Amino acid sequence: MEEHRIPSSLARIIFQSVEEHIGENGLNMFLKRAGLEEYIGKELPDDDTPSLEMSKFKKGIGLIVELFGEKAAKPLLLRWGKLTFEYALKNKPTLFGLAGLVTTFMGEEGKERFILKRVLKESENLYDVPHILTEDTDCFYVEIQDCFYCSNLHSDNCICWAPAGFWITMMTWITGKNHEVKETECMAQGHPSCKFRIAKKGSVLSPTA
Ligand SMILES: [Zn+2]
Repeated sequence: MEEHRIPSSLARIIFQSVEEHIGENGLNMFLKRAGLEEYIGKELPDDDTPSLEMSKFKKGIGLIVELFGEKAAKPLLLRWGKLTFEYALKNKPTLFGLAGLVTTFMGEEGKERFILKRVLKESENLYDVPHILTEDTDCFYVEIQDCFYCSNLHSDNCICWAPAGFWITMMTWITGKNHEVKETECMAQGHPSCKFRIAKKGSVLSPTA
């Protein structure tokens, strides 16, 4: 079977947000080291054309952790997740199912559930990897099977910060509050899948945040 490729419009957003974070030269250097030279200076079409291979995407994320070390990679990947959400919302809201959402008649928790379900469903299609949603009274739980964010790395820690950054920003977009998102089990630690906890109740954002 042919390898899954991330659609061009998402690959665009991924590269744009990396560039915003580390600059054009940084992006080009990174693409070179990640074996993605073909994308240097390339204008990707903003459509569904299958583009970046999952194996290369996965390798690229692993390279960020290797190059920067876990301590520095954490804020970088959290921010990258945040930017991916912001770019998608602004430029391509259909990509993660963020367009045409009618949630005015729902309560806060209903809105969270509705949007999270949609985003996870779209994420499954975009990355071709299962994203399973469960919940209890206080939290939503997301399990990513065959997770690609931790690459093939080994660590004592949970290291999948990019999806956490994405969901933190998404939750703030929904409620206007700050929600704790925490990875609780990571494949890098030897667990069979990566698991995340998203608090349903947010705290009021401080003006400096
Ligand atoms: Zn992971």
